[in-house]
Amino acid sequence: MAEPCIFCRIVRGEIPAQLLVNTTDCVAFRDLSPQAPVHILIIPKKHVASLDDVTDLEIAGKMTMLAVALARQEGIAASGYRTVINTGADGGQSVFHLHLHLLGGRAMTWPPG
Ligand code: 5GP
Ligand code: ZN
Repeated sequence: MAEPCIFCRIVRGEIPAQLLVNTTDCVAFRDLSPQAPVHILIIPKKHVASLDDVTDLEIAGKMTMLAVALARQEGIAASGYRTVINTGADGGQSVFHLHLHLLGGRAMTWPPG
């Protein structure tokens, strides 16, 4: 049976995505349905369903530092940006492969919806 996880399929190149970064542990690509002028997803290559399932303590740090590097690369570091990890049903998670959203290029509002 084909791997059902859409982000695992992106990691394997089975589904096209605009890859921006490809490291030993992580890939980053543009969100299919951008919610801001810059909307990038940073994911671990290894399947982890959510932040609640992280056991590799380094992976969250690596993902966060990739977001910082990408924000600079995308020219939004000075204006500011938001990083988000939605977790579980109430968190609004829709894809159950851990991912960090990097959003920028417009002013964000608070509180989030
Ligand atoms: P979540 O709601 O789980 O925090 O975020 C999932 C994100 O994945 C959404 O922003 C959605 O637009 C994005 N997404 C879902 N499927 C695909 C896909 O096949 N390709 C890309 N690039 N993004 C996707
Ligand atoms: Zn996966």
